[in-house]
Amino acid sequence: MIPHCPSGCSRRQNVRTVVRFGHFYRSSDRRKIQRFKCAHCGRYFSQASFSKKFGQNKRHLNGEIFKLLVSGVSQRRIARMLNCHLTTVSRKLSFLGQQARWINHCDRLKTSKVSEVQFDDLETFEHTKLKPLSVTLMVEKGSRQILAFEVARMPAKGLLAKKSLKKYGPRRDERPQSRDRLFRRIQSVVFENALIESDQNPSYFPLVKVFFPKARYQTCKGQRGAVTGQGELKKIGFDPLFSLNHTCAMFRANVNRLFRKTWCTTKKIQPLIDHLELYAFYHNRVLLKQSQRKKCIDL
Ligand SMILES: [Zn+2]
Repeated sequence: MIPHCPSGCSRRQNVRTVVRFGHFYRSSDRRKIQRFKCAHCGRYFSQASFSKKFGQNKRHLNGEIFKLLVSGVSQRRIARMLNCHLTTVSRKLSFLGQQARWINHCDRLKTSKVSEVQFDDLETFEHTKLKPLSVTLMVEKGSRQILAFEVARMPAKGLLAKKSLKKYGPRRDERPQSRDRLFRRIQSVVFENALIESDQNPSYFPLVKVFFPKARYQTCKGQRGAVTGQGELKKIGFDPLFSLNHTCAMFRANVNRLFRKTWCTTKKIQPLIDHLELYAFYHNRVLLKQSQRKKCIDL
């Protein structure tokens, strides 16, 4: 099929202005690409001009890098394993993260509304533990599907608070705004009278009242984390927030910058968001679907 001119000539003139104009060989994936020319404006372009991967020299590595990024491998190790530059891997993280964000958004709109959700905060940091970050995460109870997450800056707590203030000055607490954004986003996905569960954080109740006034809101007391569950699964027999805590543990086990006692850390917030989007995509589309398929076979 012959495409339209990117400058919009054929649409304006209502006649076909584009003609085929030879091929070129793309070495990165060994493909022959059709080239075109617009007879009206004289512009040259090709099939590749319309691709999301336009200009990528290492497009054949996208799939491999994606799988390794969501399997707890560090960016440096990926570069070593695939024999490419570290910058390539970080660019791929950004590109794949954008793609995953869009697909996650579309998936959210396509799925039917959910009636039981759980939410809580997962803590990490940027650059140093003196600059903590909070990831508010919402999952569907039972299926463990990740519905949405938001990342926010927060001031350091406890023993580090004084040290953080001295070294980096006052740090804004962005958590209220980020939780507002999260709730606004999931309003279209969750039923008005849904069951919403969380821990006993006092700032959650007003939020649920504003966005879901008709919902049933239940809180559970926070428990001590078990080492085997990445500090997220709890040391109790029955955990009412199991779906959420298990998902947090999965994040900590598969996204290397969230590992406990790791030396892979987040330097900037945006790559962390990209990485979380990538994992959310893999979790919802691959890991959960596989476990559902297994259940069907067992039955
Ligand atoms: Zn043209």
